[in-house]
Amino acid sequence: MIKTANFESIAEAAAILRDGGLVGMPTETVYGLAADATNGEAVAKIFAAKGRPSFNPLIIHVMNLAQAGEFVEVNEWARAAAGSFWPGPLTMVLPKLPPSTHPAGGGDVKGGISELASAGLETLAVRVPSHKVARALIEAAGVPLAAPSANVSGTLSPTSAAHVHDSLGDKVDMILAAGACEIGLESTVLDLSGEAPLVLRPGGVSAEDICEVLGVVVGYDAGDPEAPKSPGQLLKHYAPNLPVRLNAIDVREGEALLAFGRTKFMVGPDFPAEWVRNLSETQDLHEAAANLFAMLKSLDGSGAQGIAVMAVPDVGIGVAINDRLKRAAQK
Ligand code: AMP
Ligand code: MG
Repeated sequence: MIKTANFESIAEAAAILRDGGLVGMPTETVYGLAADATNGEAVAKIFAAKGRPSFNPLIIHVMNLAQAGEFVEVNEWARAAAGSFWPGPLTMVLPKLPPSTHPAGGGDVKGGISELASAGLETLAVRVPSHKVARALIEAAGVPLAAPSANVSGTLSPTSAAHVHDSLGDKVDMILAAGACEIGLESTVLDLSGEAPLVLRPGGVSAEDICEVLGVVVGYDAGDPEAPKSPGQLLKHYAPNLPVRLNAIDVREGEALLAFGRTKFMVGPDFPAEWVRNLSETQDLHEAAANLFAMLKSLDGSGAQGIAVMAVPDVGIGVAINDRLKRAAQK
C-alpha cells in the first residue's frame, strides 16, 4: 500500500520496521526496500521479495558517521569521505568491527547487524542518506536499515513509489511516497577496506571528486563477471525487457529513442511521439541521471521492439549513466 510520506505515515512505517516488516523508502538515489538490519528474519524477507541471491550483501543506512562507527572500523579515508559526501550518495565498504567490540555484542546477537545483510563478509557497506524522509524513518525506527533498491533483482531501479509498487506489489508492507528521486542513480560504492580506495560501482558521487577529497588515486574495479565483488558488477543488471542499442546515430524500424541533447534523428511520419524520451535537451548530466530509469521504463512499456540510446559523455556522473546503460544493453 502506497502512503504519502508525512509524520503519521513515517511513524507507522517505523512500527512496521520494528515488527520485522518491509517498507519502500524514498532516498535521494533510488527507492530502497528497507528492513531492520539487526533482525535476520526481516533481512531474509528482503532477499525473498527481490529474488536477490543471498551472496549479494546489502547497504546499511544509518543517521551519521557516529552510528556507522558502532558497526565498522572508521579509518582516515572514511572520515575524510564522510566529511565531504555524507549525507549523500556515497556507500563505503569498511571492515566490520569484531563482535566483541560491538556495544551490543555484534554478529547475530541483539543490536548487531545480521550476518545475512553482509552475506557473511568481513566488510560492511554503510551509507548516510540525505533524503529527509529516509532520515526521519531511520530515526523513528531507531535501528540501522538494510536497504537495496526496491525492485525485483536485475531489473531497472525504481525512482518513484509507483515503480516500487509495479515491481514488488504486496511483497512490501508499506511504500512511503515522496515524489521522484533527485539523483535517480544508485550510490557510488567505494571500498575503503583494502590497501587503496577502490570504486566498485560508479554512482552519484564521481571518482574525480573522491580522488580530490582523499588526495590519493582511486581505482575502479569493474568486476570479474565470474566472481563479482558487488552484484552491481553483474554484467546484466538494471535491465529493461526490450533490447537496448547504445551510441545510436539513427532510429531503426520498430525502435523507440532515448535521446540526449538537441540533435534530431529522421523518423517516419507514423512514428509515435511517446516513443521518444530525452534524458536532457540541455545536455545536463545530472538531469539525465535523474531521468534515466524512469525513461527507460516508460519506453520499455511503449510497444516498441527495441530502444536506441544516443551517446552520453563519459565524464562525472556520465560514467555512472554509461555503466547502467552498458548493463541494460547486455544480452
Ligand atoms: P543495491 O542495494 O541494490 O544498490 O546494491 C548494493 C551494492 O553494494 C551492491 O553492488 C553490493 O554488492 C554492494 N555491497 C554491499 N556490501 C558490500 C560489501 N561488503 N562488499 C562489497 N560490495 C558490497
Ligand atoms: Mg539494486
